[in-house]
Amino acid sequence: MTGRCRCGRVAWRASASPFRSVLCHCADCRRLTGASPVGYLGFPKPVVRWEARRAFRATSAGVTRGACPACGTLLSYMCTIWPGELYLHAATLDDPEGFVPETHLHRAVREVEGTGKGDGSSPHEGSGPAASPRDRP
Ligand SMILES: [Zn+2]
Ligand SMILES: [Zn+2]
Repeated sequence: MTGRCRCGRVAWRASASPFRSVLCHCADCRRLTGASPVGYLGFPKPVVRWEARRAFRATSAGVTRGACPACGTLLSYMCTIWPGELYLHAATLDDPEGFVPETHLHRAVREVEGTGKGDGSSPHEGSGPAASPRDRP
């Protein structure tokens, strides 16, 4: 699998299939990308090779996102809870048809937000509203 940012400066190549394909509905992903849900492909870190350096930014506790320093496209997501894992934005795939989501994350957060009670700060699955069984179809 291969992908790249909008301007083409930062390209990636994965030498194995993703172990996970998800659509995330959390407020962080929605606001950072201006879209929802946001698709991710999960890989063991060593199988992904980068052709250029990403610009890294901490976006919430334990979460580091990588983007193209030139065009700003978000490319990757890492969380200290899963140190060996790297999640790539499925929208950066060269062949978008290669993304077949298996599950939804954080659908409950969006429901809670509708009641004015969401804090929008919970990280990807594991804590808070995300732990709701409703997140597992
Ligand atoms: Zn770029
Ligand atoms: Zn998210």
